Amino acid sequence: MDILFDVDGTIADVHHLWAERISATYERQLRERGAYPFTFEDISDWSFGPKAAMLGLSPQDCTDMIFQLWKERWREVPTVDEGVSRAMQELAAFDIVTSDAQGQEIQQWLGEQRIPYRAFRQGGSSLKLTYDILVEDNPALAARIREGQHLLLRDRPWNRDIPDCAHVRRFHGSEELPDLIERIMRNP
Ligand SMILES: [Mg+2]
Repeated sequence: MDILFDVDGTIADVHHLWAERISATYERQLRERGAYPFTFEDISDWSFGPKAAMLGLSPQDCTDMIFQLWKERWREVPTVDEGVSRAMQELAAFDIVTSDAQGQEIQQWLGEQRIPYRAFRQGGSSLKLTYDILVEDNPALAARIREGQHLLLRDRPWNRDIPDCAHVRRFHGSEELPDLIERIMRNP
C-alpha cells in the first residue's frame, strides 16, 4: 500500500508561526475590532478562519504567506509534536507530498528532522488521491476518498467538523500512527 504524508499542519507546525505573523502585521486592525491577537485556534476552517476573512485575506493570500515563511524561516518551523520523527522512522516506506511551493526548503527541513521518506513530490489533491493511505490535515479530502483508501486526519482546529467513519480516522499524536497504519495494512 502506498502511504503519503502531507507537510503543513500534518508534520510541520508552520501555522503557529503564521498566526504570530498575522498578529504582528495586522495588530492595529485586529485591535480596532477587538480581535487581537490572532491565535492558532482562530484558524477554525480550511479558509484560515473568519478573522482572516475579516482582515480581507483570501485563502490564497494566507497560503502565499505560509510559502513565504518556509522560504524565510524554515529552520524555525517546529514539528507538530515531539513524536513526529520517531513515528515516521518506525514506518514502512512513505512519500512526502505537498502542494507547497518551497520544495527545496521543505526538503532541507525534512533532512534536519531526520524524516526518512521514499520520494518527495509536489502536488495537490489529485496527486494525493492516488495513494492508499493519506496522512493529512485537509478536511476536504474526507469527501473525496474512495473505497479502499484511508484518510488519517491530524486533529487541527480547521478539520474538527469531520467525523470519524470507516475510512477516516482522526489522530491526536504522532505516536498513534505506527499502530494505526499497521492495522490498516493488515486489514485494508
Ligand atoms: Mg496540510
